[in-house]
Amino acid sequence: MQAEIVTIGTELLLGEIVDTNSAWIAQRLTTIGLNLYYTTTVGDNLGRITQVLKQALERSDVVITTGGLGPTVDDVTREAVAAATERDLVLDSDLLEEITAYFARRGYTMTENNRRQARIPRGAMIIHNPVGTAPAFAVEHKGHVIISLPGVPHEMRYLMENTVLPYLRERFGLTGIIKSRVVHTCGIGESAVDARIGDLMQLSNPTVGTRAHPGQTDIVITAKADSPAEADALLAPIEAEIRARLGIYVYGVDEETLADVVNGLLAAKGLRLAIAETLTRGELARILSSARGGEGALAGTVMLPHAQAAQQVLGIGADLIAREGFVSQAVADAIAEAVRRLYNAGLGLAIVGPDDPGAEGAPPTYFSLATEEGVIRGQPRPGRSGVAGMNWLLFLGQDLVRRHLLGAEPN
Ligand code: ATP
Ligand code: MG
Repeated sequence: MQAEIVTIGTELLLGEIVDTNSAWIAQRLTTIGLNLYYTTTVGDNLGRITQVLKQALERSDVVITTGGLGPTVDDVTREAVAAATERDLVLDSDLLEEITAYFARRGYTMTENNRRQARIPRGAMIIHNPVGTAPAFAVEHKGHVIISLPGVPHEMRYLMENTVLPYLRERFGLTGIIKSRVVHTCGIGESAVDARIGDLMQLSNPTVGTRAHPGQTDIVITAKADSPAEADALLAPIEAEIRARLGIYVYGVDEETLADVVNGLLAAKGLRLAIAETLTRGELARILSSARGGEGALAGTVMLPHAQAAQQVLGIGADLIAREGFVSQAVADAIAEAVRRLYNAGLGLAIVGPDDPGAEGAPPTYFSLATEEGVIRGQPRPGRSGVAGMNWLLFLGQDLVRRHLLGAEPN
């Protein structure tokens, strides 16, 4: 059983928007055991879309399209599907009523163009879209099926989850499921992870693989089974083995972020964290406060663009800064303690680094965590430029807090 994705839109071809729909759909298709063999992107051109769809229908059992279902003249997916499946477009009165009601509910005026959206290829099955106006549909053609979904990602995802995936399972008798568990680690590189669990990567069910991101390495365990419970039974022992081998480096699984975990640990200990940041410019505060449990976990934050701010807001001594330099361990220690006191918090974290950590001769970035018992230091890290380098520092800062809360040594 094989599937194919066709994303439609000239903006995609011009690189004005990035095709995230394909990647998302591809991932979802693997969960129901459908193999994906081709992904094509085509512009808003009736002839070319028709040609692509014809070819797709010849070689794939399932074709999923996104985009081009809107009301405007350049939205021609309906026409192309009709042409590729050799049928005409008909006005569906139920659909028209639904679209009219959608507009009425929101108090929008419906234009003649919106009526176009109620036209679907003759014999198509309508996929009701409660989250938007573009109706989706599926057409059976010579034992193959083509499913057309809106381009707007949240609408597409909603329809895939709620209608398309269940339908495909049933239609093609796909009983097997594929389930993954992602184990997140931080503070350990991909090759070090590989050295510890490389033998598990030889397994065939479940399979084990790694994915490296700045500051963290994920380990993905994937099981094929007939039911979710059976998949879980395959995943659990491998996850336990990985946790045993990687220990403290494992911070969470699946959707869990490091920030969620840090907030959760703070809550569990009844502690609040105060943060002072220089080069990361408040980014750590943003991440922690927008993660799960952020409201309770943060005592307050200060962004320090330069030494004067540290003097004025936190009362860091000018003599200390002159002697040690603003970007120094001693100043980071003082800032961590000062911000902890400022907010009357259990913990105070300072990340103090140069403006461009990747620049030639730039000092490293310093991490200090002030506690009621004294200051704990993370290892000073020579910087890297860019977003990836910044993310790495943000991970290190959070990990210092996590390790302290777990009673472990700093990395
Ligand atoms: P609408 O009724 O909103 O016009 P549509 O089905 O016609 O829906 P498009 O007009 O093709 O969809 O795309 C609408 C928006 O959805 C695009 O402007 C873009 O922001 C987003 N979008 C479309 N296709 C993709 C894609 N493949 N990946 C990510 N985003 C996409
Ligand atoms: Mg559109």
